Amino acid sequence: MKPHHSPSRRKALKQAALLGSAAFLSPTLLACAKTEEKKLGIALVGLGNYATVQLGPALRQTQYCELRGIVTGTPEKATKWQKEYGILPAHSYSYETFDRLRDDPDIDIVYIVLPNFMHAEYTIRALEMGKHVICEKPMGMDAAECRAMIAAAKKANRLLQIGYRLFYEPHHLEMMRWAQEPHEGRIKLMETSLGFDMARPGLWRIDKRMGGGGALMDLGPYVIQAARRAAGANPVSVRAQGYVDDPELYKGIYGTYTWQLRFPDDALCNSTASFSAYIDRYHVAKGHHYTELKPAFSANAKLSLRTWDGERTLPSAEFQQATQMDAFARNILDGTPVVASGEEGLIDMQIVDAIKQAIEKGREVEIGY
Ligand code: NDP
Repeated sequence: MKPHHSPSRRKALKQAALLGSAAFLSPTLLACAKTEEKKLGIALVGLGNYATVQLGPALRQTQYCELRGIVTGTPEKATKWQKEYGILPAHSYSYETFDRLRDDPDIDIVYIVLPNFMHAEYTIRALEMGKHVICEKPMGMDAAECRAMIAAAKKANRLLQIGYRLFYEPHHLEMMRWAQEPHEGRIKLMETSLGFDMARPGLWRIDKRMGGGGALMDLGPYVIQAARRAAGANPVSVRAQGYVDDPELYKGIYGTYTWQLRFPDDALCNSTASFSAYIDRYHVAKGHHYTELKPAFSANAKLSLRTWDGERTLPSAEFQQATQMDAFARNILDGTPVVASGEEGLIDMQIVDAIKQAIEKGREVEIGY
């Protein structure tokens, strides 16, 4: 295992060493010294677009974990990734040999980047092998699958993170801080929406069995959790609508989903998730004060916070996923709780389930937790 030293940590550790004794190390520094030699090994499962364009490159920038293994059904991808990332053939698996990860001590974390209908199965199998797991959003196909995944993590005594990169993103954290700050009043109105023109024939995302519900499943979790995190509470009820602009493309699902969440103190959030047109917006308003992110949710979009009196950009990592994966590695190394936890993923799926019900029933439904 290669040791890794960031410049600031190297400096801090050197200073401590100069003092001559570990007795001078702060508890935080001691923890750093203890873990300095150990980067956790990650295996990516499913080398599609997200793994290729975001997670692989992000793993070149992580401090506490590194890409050490791959699981793919496409042999050409295995060859390419081995070459590009220096992955040993011994750490290269197919779906048929997935279960052999159990005996691979160099892989600590299994990262599930598969189509939605495979999330629960592969997450549970990896947990049962004794691996920590990151599972991409949406956590599962419904709340029942999410509960089974949480139970599997508890049983295996392993940690589970959902790939919620924005839980660790500085602009989103600042939005949450501002939203919950009492002195400018309480939140009355939010708009959280994400949409792309991305539906194409044959795409698993628009196949009901594989995707579970188009844009609602794919993009809904981002906008639901943004509203929950700004409100600092979970919504109590929802009204929802589904629209189809291309009946040839959308079978049994909608192209555009819109919904309105009502929170316990009567704050409202209006949201859209669409595969038909572009929208990317996070707006939170308290009376005449507001803060907005636009774009807000796209991976590695250039973010800045706009308010009634100006605009500001906060320092942020090149890859949001690097921060997210490092946070998880720290949770494992330090024994601290996961922020983007399975429990968070479950709540989002309970809301997704309620949105589907609300469309079906054509009326407001209470959300069960
Ligand atoms: P892709 O379709 O690009 O990749 C999925 C990969 O899964 C395929 O390339 C293939 O990899 C593997 N796979 C295994 N079985 C199947 C199957 N039956 N059908 C299709 N693919 C299969 O999807 P994405 O990479 O865009 O998305 C993967 C996951 O990541 C999704 O759950 C998505 O929601 C999530 N995601 C999260 C984002 C975020 O910002 N957090 C952004 C984008 C996606 P191989 O050939 O290696 O077997």
